Amino acid sequence: MAKAASTALAGFTKAICVGRNYAAHVAEMGAKSTKTPVLFMKPRSALRFPAEGDSLTLPRGHGSVHHEVELALVVGKAIPLGSTAADVADSISGVCVALDMTLRDAQWEAKDAGKPWTVAKAFDGSLPVSEVVSAAGIDFGALSIFCEVDGVEKQRGQTSDMLHQVPELLEHIATFFSLEEGDLVLTGTPEGVGPVEPGQRVRAGIEGVVELDVTFE
Ligand code: ZN
Repeated sequence: MAKAASTALAGFTKAICVGRNYAAHVAEMGAKSTKTPVLFMKPRSALRFPAEGDSLTLPRGHGSVHHEVELALVVGKAIPLGSTAADVADSISGVCVALDMTLRDAQWEAKDAGKPWTVAKAFDGSLPVSEVVSAAGIDFGALSIFCEVDGVEKQRGQTSDMLHQVPELLEHIATFFSLEEGDLVLTGTPEGVGPVEPGQRVRAGIEGVVELDVTFE
């Protein structure tokens, strides 16, 4: 029932990502949670399909690179600008687990300087994804997501703890961006983010749904 991500995401034009969506992660970043979701974007050049043989190379020379495990939603039916939560109820056809790889030092520098997060979040290879499984029967607000580095669990979160749940997120995103079939929505990361070094193996997953097992070089 799992589909190759390169097939499921054939129409991908962008990933819209949500920041600060789990209170404990907001706290570990020393940030403040926000009334409306914080959004940023990753382009096609960020996507990698490690299950299909893509090699994953960490960027070098820009400070630490962090793992952020996230529930990712695959848009199955285009979401026009201005759609409401009710409009988008059947727009998500699949889910996968994604790693929102982040140049953390570059992000701190950008935050301090009041600059955009683009280089910290949208660099080539910053979006490895698993295979895609059908969203039928999946309750987006009742999943457990995790991330292990070299066999040690670093992140574990419950999507019931998301500050902004999926219907609200989609409605907010549609205020600014139309979504195409094959686009992704990343729903934020729970606490426990940390560095990944060349040679380390990362196992990330949505418990009982789908997993991604990758070694970085
Ligand atoms: Zn993230």
